[in-house]
Order: sequence, then C-alpha cells, then structure tokens
Amino acid sequence: MDVVYAIENLTKFYPKQTSPANKDISFEIRQGEIFGFLGDNGAGKTTLVRQMVNLLRPTSGCISLLGQPVAGNPQHVANHVGYMPQIAHALNNMAVGEALYFTAHLRGMSRADARRERDTLLELWRMGPLRDKYSTRLSGGERRLLRLAVAMAGQMPVLILDEPTNELAPQRRRLVWDVLSRINRERGTTILFITHDAIEAEKVIQRVGIMRDGELVAVGRPGDLKQHIDQKLRLELFFAPDAPPQLPAGLAPHELQPGHWIALIERREASALLERLDLERLDDFRLYSPTLEDLYVHYAA
Ligand code: ATP
Repeated sequence: MDVVYAIENLTKFYPKQTSPANKDISFEIRQGEIFGFLGDNGAGKTTLVRQMVNLLRPTSGCISLLGQPVAGNPQHVANHVGYMPQIAHALNNMAVGEALYFTAHLRGMSRADARRERDTLLELWRMGPLRDKYSTRLSGGERRLLRLAVAMAGQMPVLILDEPTNELAPQRRRLVWDVLSRINRERGTTILFITHDAIEAEKVIQRVGIMRDGELVAVGRPGDLKQHIDQKLRLELFFAPDAPPQLPAGLAPHELQPGHWIALIERREASALLERLDLERLDDFRLYSPTLEDLYVHYAA
C-alpha cells in the first residue's frame, strides 16, 4: 500500500519550552486509510498536524508527503491536503454555495466541475437549504460543517481534520462520521483526524495513534490495541471536589477534572474493590466496559 505521509523522528520545542510538545515521533499514513489521533488535552496532537501541513516548522526530524519533503514546499501540501484547523478561520463572509464553488475552482476544477462539486457537497452535508446563506449568519454547528465541506472541496486526496465533531450535537456528529466514511469509500480519500469523540470515532477509525505528553505511545488497529484492556473495566468516581474519597490500596485513578476520577481496574477484582470503596464520600460511581477512549488512561498509567 502506498505511503501518503512518512514522519521520521519528529521533535518540536516551542520557544522557552523545557519539554518538547512532540518528542521523537515516527509513523506512516497509508493511502486510503482513516487514521485517528487520540490523547489528553495538551498531548501534542495539534502541534503534530500543524507541522504536517507546513504551518509549523519542526525542531528536528522530517515529514514527507507522497515522497516529497513538506518543509520548504508549501505548494505541495496545498495541492494535496485539505486541512480543517481547530480554530475557525474566516470564511470571508461568502454564501455557503459560493464558498464551496470558489474553493473547488481555486483548487483546479473547471467551472462546471466546481458547480457539480458544490452541489455534491451541499447534498452530502445536508446543507442544500443553506446554499445562499452567508457564513456569518450560520450557527456554530452549521459553520463547522461548512468548514469540513470546504476542506474537502475540489476532491482533495488527503484530509487532515482537527476535531471535526467538536461542539456538534449528537445527530451532526453522526453525520460527520457517516460522511467521512462515505468519502473514504467512494473517493478513496485518505483521512487523518484528531478527536476526543473516541466512542463514536471508533466506528470509522481503521488505525489509531495514542498521544501522551508529546509522545506517540501506541499505533495500531483499534481492535488490536483494545486487547490490552479487554480484561479491564472503567471505574468512574464522582465526588465533591474539596472532599476526595479515601481509596483502597492499589487504586490509582486519573483525574479528568476536580471531583471526577477515572481508573481501569481488573474485571476479576471489581467486586472486591467496590466493597472497599468509601461510598459515603462519593456522589456516584459507574462501571463500564472499556472503549477506545480508555486506551489513553491505560497508557497514562
Ligand atoms: P488539545 O487536545 O487540548 O487540543 P493537543 O494534544 O492538541 O491538545 P497541543 O495544542 O499540540 O496539544 O499542545 C501541546 C503542548 O504544547 C501543550 O503543552 C501546549 O501548552 C504547548 N503549546 C501549544 N501551542 C503552543 C505555542 N504556540 N507556544 C508555546 N507552547 C504551545
């Protein structure tokens, strides 16, 4: 299978940073795959993809796209990669249909093809009724869908999406995952994204990369990586932030936020452990079968 991106020993220090935002990262993205990056806040995911699209210069290491280096070659990325950053960039207050048509045309489609592409994308993203609406008048969710549609306009062979479903309502999240898997299937688009929506993303991800503290700690197929945690259960504890519970020996949870801890525990030890929990000090506790999301708790341990 052809390699789309090859990343070798990539390290990135921001000015005045003592530990790197990306530390000696190496991996490949293959043609036609859907690859998802997961990791805690600040793990270095956005830093990594910004280097892949040449918006940020690596401190050391190299990135090549379709066999050519990305550094010093901005046109090469622009010709092949549709990128959706996490933070919205202005859509120049164009109408939805115009934004799609002009982007497709600027990316090399004839006027007739660009019109067809606009109509296909309006249909794919269920934005037909919004065609003549100006982007500044769209809701936050509609604007995110437009940014996704703009990223793929012109049949870009590679898409890099920084949190495509962030802040979307559940129905729109599902639409995003459906559309991404459809264009992957129908157009052969290679898709790389960052997400915190691990449970939904798991349905479309073919390979996953787990990031932690600047390092790529695991890469593989979700099913293979999940074997590491299939004998475990996720335990979540909820309590008043100023009154944390005493924990049984051996339970070392990860703090998601004050008053909300999470731990992976062995299935066979679950009932004994629950008996030893200080239920008086807990507002609530929950037990779940592990999901892809729990891999970063596993690798954080
Ligand atoms: P999130 O899931 O919260 O978006 P992330 O995994 O994308 O996080 P990055 O945004 O890549 O993480 O940040 C990695 C580290 O680099 C963090 O410690 C962050 O504070 C730091 N960092 C990010 N951008 C800059 C910058 N422009 N200057 C200095 N430090 C930065």
